[in-house]
Amino acid sequence: MKKVFASLLGAVALTVAASASAGVSKAYWATSGMFGPFPINGLIPSIPADQVRDVTIPVSMWIVEHDKGIVLVDTGNNIAITEGCEAYWNKGTCDFMKPNQTKDTTITGWLKKLGYKNEDVRVVITSHTHLDHMGNMKSFPNAIHAIQKAELYQGWWPETFQGRTGEPPFVRKDIEGTQMFNFLELKGDYDVFGDGSVVILSTPGHTLGHQSVQVTMDSGNRILLAQDAIWMQENLDGHPAGLNFSVQEYTNSVNRLKFMRDLQGIPLFMGHDENQWKAGGDRWYR
Ligand SMILES: [Zn+2]
Ligand SMILES: [Zn+2]
Repeated sequence: MKKVFASLLGAVALTVAASASAGVSKAYWATSGMFGPFPINGLIPSIPADQVRDVTIPVSMWIVEHDKGIVLVDTGNNIAITEGCEAYWNKGTCDFMKPNQTKDTTITGWLKKLGYKNEDVRVVITSHTHLDHMGNMKSFPNAIHAIQKAELYQGWWPETFQGRTGEPPFVRKDIEGTQMFNFLELKGDYDVFGDGSVVILSTPGHTLGHQSVQVTMDSGNRILLAQDAIWMQENLDGHPAGLNFSVQEYTNSVNRLKFMRDLQGIPLFMGHDENQWKAGGDRWYR
């Protein structure tokens, strides 16, 4: 009897421990201003001429509330372009992308709007080192920065065909000064808190070490944040992005996420899809 009672107590203790360490309560889909309008084939050259249209696209960032602290998935365009694009990016990039980021739509602006401070951010997950995803790492000097080790190499030394001179899509100024940050340098998938709530998925191809994120919320609902592994619907329709380190690896990563969506039933969120943002952006997911 004594033994039964002791094991019952054990079960109660376990239950309490499980509920005390809840994981993610909610996740917010934000955007670092918008890009565009510009013709879609500027990004996806294989779109047939009769399907070319102008698009105005979001620059997706996610703010995830975990009981151990806020997790960011990407930090958007550098805050400096709010004051004038050409002060920070080169003219060609500004003319094509037409960024309209304001102070309120920087990552710091969104955090403030949702009631947080930069200091509340425990982990910054950077999908990749392109200018519209890692622009504000330096606003979070005390956070843990989770990134693929290969992507750090890519950010510091891009291929010559992708901007080694420090101009877009890799902006040297974004990464300079971060050498001694607290990096969680990854090679492959990683369960950030060990509770399955925030799982980094290796999805290379767009860049050498691109990563996506699966979030499982307390409700049991899951979301899959592709970021630039899949820019927009047209990529799912078989038209690859026009900017890739490796088209073969890119295709494998698109398929990895697509099959997670189709076989596991997880809603898939793309990095830059105009219509998906219109339908479901600027809101909490629980
Ligand atoms: Zn990118
Ligand atoms: Zn992007």
